[in-house]
Amino acid sequence: MSFPYLARFQDAVAELKREGRYRVFADLLRRKGAFPTATYYGGDKPRDITIWCSNDYLGMGQHPKVLAAMHEALDTCGAGAGGTRNISGTTHYHIQLEQELADLHGKEAALTFTSGYVSNDATLSTLSKLLPNAVLISDQLNHNSMIEGIRHGGAEKKIFRHNDVEHLEEILKSIAPERPKVIAFEGVYSMDGDFGPTEKICDLADKYGGFTYIDEVHAVGMYGPRGAGIAARDGTMDRIDIVEGTLAKAYGVQGGYITASAAIIDAIRSYAPGFIFSTSLAPVLCAGAIASIRHLKESNAEREKQQAAAGRLKAMLKGAGLPVIDTPSHIVPVMVGDPVCCKAVSDTLMRDYGIYVQPINYPTVPRGKERLRFTPGPLHTPAMMDTLVGALSDLWKHHELPQQSVA
Ligand code: PMP
Repeated sequence: MSFPYLARFQDAVAELKREGRYRVFADLLRRKGAFPTATYYGGDKPRDITIWCSNDYLGMGQHPKVLAAMHEALDTCGAGAGGTRNISGTTHYHIQLEQELADLHGKEAALTFTSGYVSNDATLSTLSKLLPNAVLISDQLNHNSMIEGIRHGGAEKKIFRHNDVEHLEEILKSIAPERPKVIAFEGVYSMDGDFGPTEKICDLADKYGGFTYIDEVHAVGMYGPRGAGIAARDGTMDRIDIVEGTLAKAYGVQGGYITASAAIIDAIRSYAPGFIFSTSLAPVLCAGAIASIRHLKESNAEREKQQAAAGRLKAMLKGAGLPVIDTPSHIVPVMVGDPVCCKAVSDTLMRDYGIYVQPINYPTVPRGKERLRFTPGPLHTPAMMDTLVGALSDLWKHHELPQQSVA
């Protein structure tokens, strides 16, 4: 008898369902000019709902300048890039975008990838190969794309407790001075909404001869002068060896990148399979990203409105006695602590209130830390916030969930 392939796949999915971790896609249509309202196709008939969990943090995915640039690029050079970067897939849009990104971070050069995920995976795995006998030291809460990149590289890996620089120092001290030591961490941690201590990490890197790699995916466009991220805000940008970011969150488009010295970029460009063997970003995406980055370099208006919206929502949730984590950033997590309940609350919000927030369960967060993660933006109105907080208060009573705010 042959292996029961189908049954194995069904069992794997059944296990997720049993644990309340089975993911269901929300079938949405974002409409130009209407965000954060969208049409939801998942019920009996299509209806308008409000999105509360988008990573299009500033609404740039709808910005007229971004859309105009994308239309123009489409009309100029068509749909796809037509090849990998080395085989006909480098367009003038790619070159301009990389110059724009290098300038944003004050680095010599930049390299774009098809997503932020690929940029982390391809770069970290290649660092392991380029740096002989390296140790990759990773914050415990680093994103899956960094974890996988480190794993693929096959170098020795050590994990330091989240944002615990004393633990990081213990690890650095324990490694022979001549070995390369890559310290990988984030600017803004996407689930807890806290910041990486860039200055202290750079101090330790200097002291122990480390190499610094920061993921600024949730920070670019959002923090620091011209939206250059947390390292720029902290004045540590020139002490960071590689900055990684995305074009898909605050910039509202798609694609990932790294910026660094020309020598580093040249080496990654020449050795990273995830860069070399994949069709390059569609030029239309590069054009949209260029327009978005340029706009957010000059304009603080979206960032200011977003920060005000996040502050207002946190205060309202706290005022209502809901268990919100008082983050210093734009990310607003409300803790539920149980996967089945988290999904039930999310389903009821959609069904009864037209509010869309995806439940965040293991393995995205540790078991017992299940939550709803709200990302209020400049386009959420005070009336939308009133509806949201009213709905959450009703549901918390109905499900008898724990109250009080979490420091
Ligand atoms: N790094 C972090 C910290 C992320 O949260 C994400 C995506 N959620 C990525 C990298 C991947 O970026 P992208 O969505 O552009 O692939």
